[in-house]
Amino acid sequence: MGQQSEAFKALPAIEKLLKQEDLLRLAAAGKLAYVKQEARYQVATLRSQIALNDKETIEWVLESDIQLELITRIAQAVLRRHSNSLAPVYNLTGTVIHTNLGRARLPVEAVAAMEIAATGDMNIEYDLETGKRGDRDDHLEQVICELTGAEAATVVNNNAAAVMLVLNSLAKEREVIISRGELVEIGGAFRVPEVMKSANCILREVGTTNRTHAKDYREAVNEQTALMMRVHTSNYEIKGFTKSVSDEELGRIAHETGVVFVSDMGSGTLVELTQYGLPKEPTVRETLDMGADLVTFSGDKLLGGPQAGIIVGRADLIYQLKRNQLKRALRIDKVTMAALLAVLDLYRDPEQLRSRLPLLRDLTRPAEEIEQVCRRILPELEKSLANRAEVGVDSCKSQIGSGSLPLDLLDSYCLSIKPVALKGERDASLLRLAQAFRQLPKPVVGRIHDGKLLLDLRCLRDEYDFIQQLNQL
Ligand SMILES: *Cc1c(COP(=O)(O)O)cnc(C)c1O
Repeated sequence: MGQQSEAFKALPAIEKLLKQEDLLRLAAAGKLAYVKQEARYQVATLRSQIALNDKETIEWVLESDIQLELITRIAQAVLRRHSNSLAPVYNLTGTVIHTNLGRARLPVEAVAAMEIAATGDMNIEYDLETGKRGDRDDHLEQVICELTGAEAATVVNNNAAAVMLVLNSLAKEREVIISRGELVEIGGAFRVPEVMKSANCILREVGTTNRTHAKDYREAVNEQTALMMRVHTSNYEIKGFTKSVSDEELGRIAHETGVVFVSDMGSGTLVELTQYGLPKEPTVRETLDMGADLVTFSGDKLLGGPQAGIIVGRADLIYQLKRNQLKRALRIDKVTMAALLAVLDLYRDPEQLRSRLPLLRDLTRPAEEIEQVCRRILPELEKSLANRAEVGVDSCKSQIGSGSLPLDLLDSYCLSIKPVALKGERDASLLRLAQAFRQLPKPVVGRIHDGKLLLDLRCLRDEYDFIQQLNQL
């Protein structure tokens, strides 16, 4: 009996375990949640075995250095079970919305909502009043309409899916008129001509690469025409001798000729970005006001939410989208929905938005503040790279990214690292250096520019953890 209670007493407190160096290191590598979960599990297992008076366990707990044993077990379990190829990284590329690094980081409000949704049952398609089947879109439609002024809305897996659903529902085997200058490719897999083809639409290009006139659109309309489409030329801009037709005029032509006008905004913001000192981008509400019948945009670009594609506009058209069988294949799940609702809820209070939405916080982070972070980290980096590289602090430009406002750059600061190397080996040593940063416990992704590795610290928030791992370079 005495032995049993001694064994209970010998078990270290979870909090104490979490403060031990090996586990702190894992936590700093972005695995704190896994470490906590595993520590709780291991201690709880021992507790129940002691409670059952398991002699072997009790003996082991009393005779070994139980704290050390537990730390080893926890660390091994975390490494074994969570050494997935999918891992947290530091995005110090200077591109704030980085598609390859997962785009928007979600606010804590969304994370809490996701946890609740993920771990329990939700009335996602269930009407609590009638006890009958409900509509998945009901939960989101009201708030989206409130924020955009639209009549109706629906949500799918991403914006590519939104465009596909619109085309397939409204223009199957019919013509879609689009300016040649907007036949863009966005991030490899999304190319407008190919999207048209897979949605079973006939692409009708009008105008030329640099100039498209109102009469080009007007003359292209025939009895086969279903839609006029505008695609935000997200990732490039044509300069010089150019001409395009405004949304307003395009809307007018579409309505005079009896076709539907759809605008794929790509990023699509819900708020006036200039109020936060950011460059002007038309809002979804403005685009609808200009005469777009439907607007599609991403959930994880300028909106700062989870991956989703949002479609807003005329109720009769949205109804047709919802009836398409494809909608079923493209729908979002309860966890995404919970996150999106939480993010949209923040938009109801634009005053608070800037401090609560990580994306907006990063985009509006003052350059002086970023410079101070660079100066604080500089001596630590110099220490870990002594004799191997010249390290300094430079001003640089961050990009918003993901095709938002392609030419607008934000003033920022970076750590610039130039490896010490012989003349013929400069490129190779630069690549090796970049790789060394990517091989840290929590990989660091920077960008190479002009013979240097640049780490733009705009998106760095956990400065302390970042410094902790530098000595492993
Ligand atoms: C980004 C983008 C898309 C694709 O959106 P996803 O949410 O990544 O699927 C489509 N059209 C435009 C104009 C875009 O900028």
